[in-house]
Amino acid sequence: MDTGGIFTPVAWGAGQTALALLLCGLAQAEFARYQARRAVRPVDTPWVSTVAVWIMGAALTLPPAAVLAVAAVLHAHELFRGPPRQLGSALVSTFAATLASLVSSGDARTGVLAGLLYLAATDGPALLRGAWRLVAGAHPVVGRRGAAGDGVTLVALGVMLGLSMHFSPLAILFVLLPVSYLRRSAHGRALRHAAAHDPKTQLWNHAAWQTLSSAALASHRTRARSAVLMVDLDHFKRLNDTYGHRAGDDVLGSVAHVLQNTTRRNDIVARIGGEEFSILLPGVTEQEACQAAERIRDQIAALTVTTTNLHGHPTVINGITASIGVAATHRADTSVDDLLVNADRWLYQAKERGRNRVCGPLLAAAA
Ligand code: GH3
Ligand code: MG
Ligand code: MG
Repeated sequence: MDTGGIFTPVAWGAGQTALALLLCGLAQAEFARYQARRAVRPVDTPWVSTVAVWIMGAALTLPPAAVLAVAAVLHAHELFRGPPRQLGSALVSTFAATLASLVSSGDARTGVLAGLLYLAATDGPALLRGAWRLVAGAHPVVGRRGAAGDGVTLVALGVMLGLSMHFSPLAILFVLLPVSYLRRSAHGRALRHAAAHDPKTQLWNHAAWQTLSSAALASHRTRARSAVLMVDLDHFKRLNDTYGHRAGDDVLGSVAHVLQNTTRRNDIVARIGGEEFSILLPGVTEQEACQAAERIRDQIAALTVTTTNLHGHPTVINGITASIGVAATHRADTSVDDLLVNADRWLYQAKERGRNRVCGPLLAAAA
């Protein structure tokens, strides 16, 4: 039966399909570039490459040679017009798409298989690393939050595009909208990230720490026992005066790295002042918190930071130390502010007693 109108399947040749996919990919990339150039702060408009959608659309509808051409043109355009990108990942994507087109024979089963193959080749290593960090309880890599989800979504959209283009080339119009939405949501995610994080260390900022920690303490599971560590670098002003603020900033970055790597995924780590950091350890006893604090103190003392000194010469800084105050919940209604005030009091004790040490009620009682 001929239904007539726009729903009548229109057979496009390979050339027309390739051209339509290329135009969509190039237009999306140019629009992203235009938005990035207009942004006041580039961090607010992260570059989300949408080439995977158009490449997958090609892999499921075009012969391998045409897929190779579409992928090569889109990646070449991105390499020249987009932000610095690795040539290696563009080549992997191009060859994976060509391989995927060999697997696909136009039906849903082989289409999904082709999508999975492409995803494994392009995002597989990053997805595995993310899964491993999740299993190991490590903090997610800074700036990668949400990126894995974007990669999977783009390939899934590409597979849907490729499959539906067998029915009507107009499917391409319906994919443009979710692809734009994905880019907008990445933009929103970057703004939320900037509002809640310290730009120098990428740790949570004070306000976000307060909110997240209050929520964690409100949970029944962690209310009964949780602890706060307050970490303050020793004689940091002297370090700045000796090596310069740029070197000081590099030390702050390295310390932030230590704090992230020595704590668990559900611990909340923040930079709350110049060289002051606070960490909420949900669900731990005071003794466990003291052990964590000692581990952090040890790791900071073992740091070697390669940086540039006041005169612009490469220099190596070590011997960085920190004093840490520990405070633990003792009552069910203990607030984050109570914990922070107590941890600050014990931090002051640590400074008084000569720095490079951990102080808390338990340690004071044992002394
Ligand atoms: P103490 O052992 O008693 O903690 O001494 P301190 O020198 O670490 O403490 P003080 O409060 O006297 O000085 C803190 C210094 O931290 C002063 C300031 O120059 C430095 N600082 C604060 N914020 C930043 C920053 O963002 N970058 C750098 N490089 N330095 C900073
Ligand atoms: Mg201080
Ligand atoms: Mg200090």
